[in-house]
Amino acid sequence: MSTAAGDAGALEVRVDRIRCVGTGLCAAAAPADVLIGPDGRAVPRHARAEASDRLTEAAEMCPTEALTVHLAATGELVAPLD
Ligand code: SF4
Repeated sequence: MSTAAGDAGALEVRVDRIRCVGTGLCAAAAPADVLIGPDGRAVPRHARAEASDRLTEAAEMCPTEALTVHLAATGELVAPLD
């Protein structure tokens, strides 16, 4: 069982399935965190993710800003950032 302190740094990957056009760039950049679902759109692989350069890169390279990374605890956007 996880504690509140243990969850403090956890991230949540979100995909806007309306915006996603299925380029697959995110899944190629961060295969541990994102996969392409049967309908050709990106899907978060896990409910929670760890911060990594790959995950940040995946969010930053999405051409439609469909993939976003948030602090799980607060929902604050952490990638992509301007
Ligand atoms: S990079 Fe963006 S548009 Fe391409 S599959 Fe991932 S979420 Fe969808």
